[in-house]
Amino acid sequence: MAKIIDGKLLSAKIKDELKVKVEEFYNKYNRKITLAVVLVGDNPASQVYVKNKITATEYVGMKSLSFRLPEDSTEQQVAETVLSLANDNGIDGILVQLPLPKHLDENKILKLIPPSKDVDGFLAENVGKLLLGQPSTVACTPFGVMKMLESEKIALSGKNAVVLGRSNIVGKPMALLLLQENCTVTICHSKTQNLKEICRNADILVAAIGRPKFVTADMVKEGAVVIDVGINRTEQGLVGDVDYENVKDLASYITPVPGGVGPMTIAMLLENTYLSAIRSQNDL
Ligand code: NAP
Repeated sequence: MAKIIDGKLLSAKIKDELKVKVEEFYNKYNRKITLAVVLVGDNPASQVYVKNKITATEYVGMKSLSFRLPEDSTEQQVAETVLSLANDNGIDGILVQLPLPKHLDENKILKLIPPSKDVDGFLAENVGKLLLGQPSTVACTPFGVMKMLESEKIALSGKNAVVLGRSNIVGKPMALLLLQENCTVTICHSKTQNLKEICRNADILVAAIGRPKFVTADMVKEGAVVIDVGINRTEQGLVGDVDYENVKDLASYITPVPGGVGPMTIAMLLENTYLSAIRSQNDL
């Protein structure tokens, strides 16, 4: 029976530690660390995500500024909002909630965020630095997964890690982070052949594909560490990419959905905002 890595508990601990560091920052520099969130349109899921991010930001004592723009905003209107935040020295992090409405070019908008304020870690400069092994802002979800592995002191060096999914925001940075820790990494995607066999060889298996209960027990090696990034809304409620009930008896560690990687993502957003504030003070 696997040990459950409780993301809710760990993220609460990280947030409480941040609360102390954020207060120390305020006492030292006499200003509040500030995260600006830009939400365009009225996508219900995005509204929930933004609300949760704002609540968490305020919980740790940071200031949150939210900019809500109507669904039919022009690219120029959104760009002007982001640029004004980019040029404001009082703002440490800028988060543009994705997806943007279809008529807007996400890449064009995101590029307006200075890499130093890219707390999502999505920009080419930050991803490139991660690839080169240089200090960078790491995308929140894979950063959170690494914290979960670290919290359990799971040995990574030399282990076979398999990452299911190759998105720019989860799969690719996840693979790079595991490589940095000396794992032998395989990335699988929708065109991968022999996927089951590859997964069965994994000591560390990270599922990030968005397919409910895709990873079944016959794909998991006994004693593997199974990290479920997936969040799928189904008639049975929220489920991950892993068939949790059947895999938990085989794995050595497993993350639940909900209450696993999800809460860690928000905690790492706050961590990234804190790190960005520290760097901006050091650069003055
Ligand atoms: P995405 O951009 O849709 O990418 C999905 C990836 O999975 C793609 O690389 C795709 O391959 C691959 N894939 C899809 N079906 C597959 C299959 N049958 N076999 C093998 N590979 C397959 O998704 P994402 O943004 O990375 O998110 C993945 C999941 O994580 C989603 O459920 C999402 O909701 C969740 N998520 C959770 C958090 C969190 O905080 N917990 C954060 C972000 C995302 P191709 O590249 O070949 O198309």
